[in-house]
Amino acid sequence: MTDELLKRLGIADLNSGVRGDCWVDLPDGGELASINPATSAPIARIALGGKSDVEDVIDSAQRAWPRWRDTPAPRRGEVVRQIGAALRAHKDDLAMLVTLEAGKIRSEGLGEVQEMIDMADFAVGLSRQLHGLTIASERPRHRMIEQWHPLGPIGVITAFNFPVAVWAWNAFVAAVCGDTIVWKPSPETPLTAIATQKIVDRVAESNGCVGVFNLCVGDVEHVGEPLVADRRLPLISATGSCRMGRRVGEVVAQRLGRSLLELGGNNGLIVTPSADHELALRAVLFSAVGTAGQRCTSLRRLIAHESIADALVDRLALAYQSLPIGDPRDDGVLVGPLINNRAVDAMQAALALAQEQGGTLVTGGKTLARAGSFVAPAIVRARPEMPIVGVETFAPILYVMTYRDFDEAIAIHNAVEQGLSSALFTTDLREAERFLAADGSDCGLANVNVGTSGAEIGGAFGGEKATGGGREAGSDAWKAYMRRQTCVVNRGNDLPLAQGVRFDVL
Ligand code: NAD
Repeated sequence: MTDELLKRLGIADLNSGVRGDCWVDLPDGGELASINPATSAPIARIALGGKSDVEDVIDSAQRAWPRWRDTPAPRRGEVVRQIGAALRAHKDDLAMLVTLEAGKIRSEGLGEVQEMIDMADFAVGLSRQLHGLTIASERPRHRMIEQWHPLGPIGVITAFNFPVAVWAWNAFVAAVCGDTIVWKPSPETPLTAIATQKIVDRVAESNGCVGVFNLCVGDVEHVGEPLVADRRLPLISATGSCRMGRRVGEVVAQRLGRSLLELGGNNGLIVTPSADHELALRAVLFSAVGTAGQRCTSLRRLIAHESIADALVDRLALAYQSLPIGDPRDDGVLVGPLINNRAVDAMQAALALAQEQGGTLVTGGKTLARAGSFVAPAIVRARPEMPIVGVETFAPILYVMTYRDFDEAIAIHNAVEQGLSSALFTTDLREAERFLAADGSDCGLANVNVGTSGAEIGGAFGGEKATGGGREAGSDAWKAYMRRQTCVVNRGNDLPLAQGVRFDVL
């Protein structure tokens, strides 16, 4: 079954990971096997790009740019519309590959590809709405406008946990904005990237726009670092850990380029005494355990009022003990594997540290005695001052803390360096409004009676503080992919200066 799936997606035993003007037969970055995290078995091999390949791929994106820039935006949207249609046709297969390679349960694999399709639809509409402003000029017979131009070829670096959706957030919006794209996917999920590129290739070829969407799979040293440092890429959009973002931000700033950083989260959810506890329980479960705790928006810190915390933890622990964990391809499974054994080790190390720092393991935490990288999601009773609570461990560990008054809850919530997603469960209007006010949640995403994970594409997605400050997907996030130009036109016979300055020489 897997063989047929791979064949339908154009995946062979050994696959080139480099696509610029064409697929490069013999890239020079060595070889990598993509591993199924549910079985630890290899799925297929990838020939990786090296330094010269990434150079060539950037060349390809640069050469394709002037023509793409000069293509009317709605026509660019039409190409993205066709890509969306191709993704619809391949939705089941591509979703299954996401499940195989990234370990997402079937419905989340399908959701990942649906998100790509939704982004394509969004970008098509956007292609007719890339509008600027007309601004009142202070000078007589002058007109001032603001317009937006394409930026150029841009670099897109993605993380393993949204192996294709995050590319779509960036690539579809950037493409309708008139940019060309060089994609460096995670080395953990190269096959989903190659399969996506092949789906896109067919549309690009039939529309004469090969070179708009490019791919270079490779490691950090030979592909990642050269890509980030390349002055031909005015924007690097990078999704991944805060560690990666600190490095990418520094290198791009050094050359005065632009970076759009979507980094780690350490998301908190406050439950107040007035909350609908059934709703809160369901939201906590999906947010903390969904995707095996491997979403940037996964819930890591539950902040419950001291009067309700024990009852909440008891019910959560019971639910955790009955979680269906297993091969994500199987019906009924809700928790798949972690991405690899390094992630399993990181979870074990974090749990050991949490207990050393005074935390109490309530349930879970064990590795499962079977092939693959499986763990039982864990709950730890913790205190906000424990250093481990401030760390994003990319695994299903939920730290539960208590508070007495609402100000304390907000202070605990905001006391971490990351600022991605946040949630409050309450039926008290004042608490809800306070949470969304300037002295409330300090995150890029703030939800009331909605969990921390599972954002819609229509809003701008991203976080504050160490999460990097970038915004992607909906709203006006497209502006990051274009350059703004303020233009003034004088239709008069005089040359009045701004601020009333006089300079009458002639
Ligand atoms: P990671 O930081 O290990 O890798 C992410 C990507 O960056 C990979 O493609 C990697 O090869 C590349 N990379 C790493 N160092 C680089 C460098 N110096 N130069 C160029 N490229 C480099 O992250 P991961 O383990 O793949 O993903 C998990 C992390 O991503 C978590 O911290 C998670 O919160 C974060 N994440 C954030 C968002 C968001 O939107 N904020 C979304 C998904 C994941």
